[in-house]
Amino acid sequence: MGYPPTGRLCGWRVWRAPGGYVPRVHTDRARQLLTASLDELDVNRRFAEKNREETTADIETAGVLGQHPGDQGTELADAEGAAALENTVAEQRRQVADALERLDAGTYGRCQVCGREIDDERLEARPEARTCREHADTPIVT
Ligand SMILES: [Zn+2]
Repeated sequence: MGYPPTGRLCGWRVWRAPGGYVPRVHTDRARQLLTASLDELDVNRRFAEKNREETTADIETAGVLGQHPGDQGTELADAEGAAALENTVAEQRRQVADALERLDAGTYGRCQVCGREIDDERLEARPEARTCREHADTPIVT
């Protein structure tokens, strides 16, 4: 009854199921992080959509009335920023949804470039990560 018998007590590996089985990646923890992230991104997405609609409406109004010609550039920049924000949020949301799908499929936690396990620290910081640190900037060909 030595403690710990195999001693990898780094963060989320500490949790042990009854019977001493230690899961490779604590998938419940990952699911919790990903679900929370998805909820947050849904809120951000609604905000981004509303923001984009409002800035677009401003430009249309200004165009029709021919007012504030000096503001036109600023409003266009605002609209571009709002659209970019909306795209960023949509992309982040897609990555998180993908990670949840990988959890369901049982392929979560492996680098999609080299197939090695992604370390826990990285998954804790970025639960939606699809690659190990080494391949963080490698484009994934699917
Ligand atoms: Zn890798």
